[in-house]
Amino acid sequence: MQQAINLIKSSDNILILTHKNPDGDAVGSVLGLAHALSCLDNKNVECFSKSEIPEVFKFLPGVSKIKNQIDPKHYDLVVLLDCAFFSRTGVDDIREIASSHNNLLIIDHHPKNKTEQDCILIIDDKASSAAILIYNLLKEMRIKITKNISDCLLTGIFTDTGGFQHSNTDPQSLETAAELMRKGSRIDKIAKNIFNGKNVPAIKLWGKALSRIQTDKNTKMAISYISKNDIEECGAKEEDASGLISIINTVSDAKFSLLLTESENKKIKGSLRSEDYKGIDVSEIARSLGGGGHKLASGFEMEGEDVENSVRRIREMILKNTTTLSS
Ligand code: 5GP
Ligand code: MN
Repeated sequence: MQQAINLIKSSDNILILTHKNPDGDAVGSVLGLAHALSCLDNKNVECFSKSEIPEVFKFLPGVSKIKNQIDPKHYDLVVLLDCAFFSRTGVDDIREIASSHNNLLIIDHHPKNKTEQDCILIIDDKASSAAILIYNLLKEMRIKITKNISDCLLTGIFTDTGGFQHSNTDPQSLETAAELMRKGSRIDKIAKNIFNGKNVPAIKLWGKALSRIQTDKNTKMAISYISKNDIEECGAKEEDASGLISIINTVSDAKFSLLLTESENKKIKGSLRSEDYKGIDVSEIARSLGGGGHKLASGFEMEGEDVENSVRRIREMILKNTTTLSS
């Protein structure tokens, strides 16, 4: 931690970035840290996300500061949040933006199976969210938590714990959330913006996916999918599928759940979820399909023709890779 603090203090030009398809923890952590470091003297802080920021996070203070282009220059410090390797950011090579890995700080809460080498790491896979790790860092640096910082970090904690319902909801998450509420942040407002403020096209899209849900006898998974055609027919956007996997994951007699979404450029995006009591590590399944994530929430992306064929192909791959499930 001290090494990270020294690096932050000695850096003037700082770039903060996160993974593609950013979730609430990714966006909240980037903005929370950016607000905090901007309060320090003489710091130029920039933020980057390769993917557009989903509408539901646009209420966060400072969101327009997140650019999807990086200035072609070398930063004194690059901070990578909520993921531990560069390929997830969409930036091909760290050397495009920093002179070496010594200028890289990674703050993440994913199991440390793969990280960039020779950089400074703050990694704690017990932490419910990257936002909690940022909060701890700011406390250690004695940076005053403003309402803006607080709104962003509380959003990170709230979304990564599934609104304080997932098994990663621990006393530290609740205590930190309480601290952030004391700064004036409101969980009801965050919930309204992110989970409870749907539009009709989004609900119709969820309806399509929910109506074709199946529990697969062999793989023991609850599975559904969304095609590009579905998105078009409903007048929805791909990001409207966010949160749907939590409903698919409520099927109690499935061991885990999978939602496949047909994305741009013939990509198929997979979201995997399970519950603690089901005894499955979905990150193993995700890794076998080229992705990764947490034990109970993981994802992957693969090339695919149309989504119906991908459902068949991925089901076979899962069956082959997880023989224990079929016994
Ligand atoms: P989601 O289903 O919400 O897109 O992703 C759930 C979790 O899976 C994310 O928090 C992230 O940890 C992980 N994840 C999602 N997509 C990918 C991917 O393409 N590669 C890797 N390594 N992890 C992913
Ligand atoms: Mn996270």
